[in-house]
Formats: sequence, C-alpha cells, structure tokens
Amino acid sequence: MKDYKLLTPGPLTTTATVKQEMLFDHCTWDDDYKKITLKIRDQLLELAHVRAEQYTVVLMQGSGTFGVESVITSVIGENEKLLIVANGAYGKRMKDICEHARINHEIIEFAENENPSAVAVAEKLDEEKEITHVAIVHSETTSGILNDIESVAKVVKERNKVFIVDAMSSFGGVDIEVGKLGIDFIISSANKCIQGVPGFSFVIANKNLLLASRGKARSLSLDLYDQWETMDKDGKWRFTSPTHVVLAFSKALDEMLEEGGIAARSKRYYDNNRLLIEKMAEMGMKSYVDLAYQGPIITTFYYPEGKEFAFSEMYDYIKARGYAIYPGKLTTAQTFRIGNIGEIYEADILNLCSIIKDFLAEVA
Ligand SMILES: *Cc1c(COP(=O)(O)O)cnc(C)c1O
Repeated sequence: MKDYKLLTPGPLTTTATVKQEMLFDHCTWDDDYKKITLKIRDQLLELAHVRAEQYTVVLMQGSGTFGVESVITSVIGENEKLLIVANGAYGKRMKDICEHARINHEIIEFAENENPSAVAVAEKLDEEKEITHVAIVHSETTSGILNDIESVAKVVKERNKVFIVDAMSSFGGVDIEVGKLGIDFIISSANKCIQGVPGFSFVIANKNLLLASRGKARSLSLDLYDQWETMDKDGKWRFTSPTHVVLAFSKALDEMLEEGGIAARSKRYYDNNRLLIEKMAEMGMKSYVDLAYQGPIITTFYYPEGKEFAFSEMYDYIKARGYAIYPGKLTTAQTFRIGNIGEIYEADILNLCSIIKDFLAEVA
C-alpha cells in the first residue's frame, strides 16, 4: 500500500524511531519495563509544570475517551454535580458519558466558533450552588478553536469548584500551566501532540482530590483511583498494559524534549497552521474559526465558492499524492478539516497546498 502522511488530529504521523521502539516485546513484570512507566509519569508532570507533592499521573488503557470517562465516572460522587461547558462534539461527549453512568450534570452550550464565556459560567455557578465540578475542552477538535481556559479557570477556582480539562488535542502542543490555573484533572492521550501511537490516555491529577475519590468509581476497568494505586507502587499497570505503545510513547517524549520541549513544538505547530490558513485563503478557502480563537492543531475550512465536489473526491486525490485529510464535523456548516500536528513541517504544508491547487483546477 502507498504510504501517506496524516493531516488528522491523531493518530498522526510519527517518526520512524518512535515506530521502531515497538519491535520489542517487553515483559510487563520486568523492572526495566516498570521503570519506563515511572519515567513517563515524571516527564508528564514536568510538561504540566507541576510537582509530585501536589500532582500525580495515571496512565489508562484505551483511547482518549477512556481517559475522559475514567475521570468523570471516578471523581464525581453521588451527591455531586458536574457542569459541562461545551462548544463542540467533545464537550457533548462528556454529557453522553454522564448520561451512560447516570452522573448528575448540566451542560452550558456555546456556538462551535464561539469561545465559552467565563461570565456565563460564573453566573451559572452562582445560580446553581449544587454544582461541584466544572469540565471544559481546551482545544475543541470539532472546529479547531482553542478555548480560553484561563478565564474559565479563574471563575471556577474563585468558587472552589473542581476543574476538569479535556486537553486531548492540545497537551504538549500548547503550553498549559496546570498548577497555576488550578486544573485538578487534565486529560490527554498518547497519540496526539506528544506524537506517540494510539493505545492509552493519561490523567494529571490533583493528588488530594484523587485520593478523596477512592470508592466513587462506577466502573472497574476505568477506576482512576485503583489504577493509580497499583501504578504508583512501582510502575506496574493494573491489567495488561499496551507495552509497545508505552515504549513508543517514552521515545516520543524524549524526542519532544530533543526538539526543544513544548515551546519548540508549539511554535512548529503554529507556524504550520498559520501558513496553511494563509495558503488556503489565497485559493479562496476561508477558515471557519476567527483567527483570534484559532488553535494551532487543526483547521476547519469552508468549501470554496463556485466549485462542486464531494469530500471523497478531494480526499482520494490528495491521498494518492501522499496525504490524508479529515472530513468536517460541524453541525451547522459544510466543511472539511486539515490537521497540522505530528511529523509535519513547512514543506508538507506547501506540498499539500499545491496538491489542493491542482485538484481545484481539475474540478473547475
Ligand atoms: C481526540 C480527542 C478525544 C478522544 O478521542 P478518542 O477517539 O477517544 O481518542 C477527546 N477530546 C478531544 C478534544 C479530542 O481531540
């Protein structure tokens, strides 16, 4: 099969050296293997700018949603209530998780190209005193918007609520001061900005709140506290761990530090993204999110005016020339998406845009 690079928000294109790590079949009981898990947890604390006295890290088998579901179903008690702040599909997925697990919740929704208003969140919290937890998505991958979690964090912490952030598609690609913002549970996964392969998610947790959640979980496999309790002893996972994925992730973290950490990676992603938006605009393709709110991860584009084609036609044309793009996910407009994270550089963006230019000339 012809290889192509992924312009999708995860899984994404990884380095050959990250993929190579997976050629080793590691034993889960082995001390060398357990040390890798401990090393990963330390590195994640550092990337989050937090210390082991206040925060801890839990790795959880499964994709990113398993991590979000683990937190929501493990830390919100019977007599507590979650406020979900949503402006896209991933916000709404948290509501879905609550409905499945019968967790008290309420949702406050904003348009998909609108930044959630901290003022509206504050009003809601003042109206409904029974709300104990607030959850929000940082980079809403539905549209590509980067939500202003700082202003929401402020009103949440002023009211002493527990703050949960789905930073799935931003952690590692956008610097987040987890401790300073008072984020209590932040969730991401192996196959996004750290540039590993899919197979587990991770949660950076306020240690006291994690300890206080003991016994609250609705699910055995997704019990965040139990997972942590086992892992914190010596790095051994509860139940079979995705050994190959763990090795690849450890390598991906090292490569990220070699690249220059979050600062360098974030700059590369922003440069890719702004170049893409500029080149697409030159071809008459406008982006959906205002540039002031546009994140560096993925961009939603409107179809160009006056051209008639199906997404699959454009997808196949581009795929045959070495890249895979993403369909739109908006409820309100016909769009498609292009991600620019992973092993993607300026040359790829320029290459892609010239392929799209050729495609548009053919469908004219
Ligand atoms: C990728 C992603 C998830 C998790 O999706 P999975 O398909 O379960 O990995 C959750 N939230 C956001 C914002 C994401 O981008």
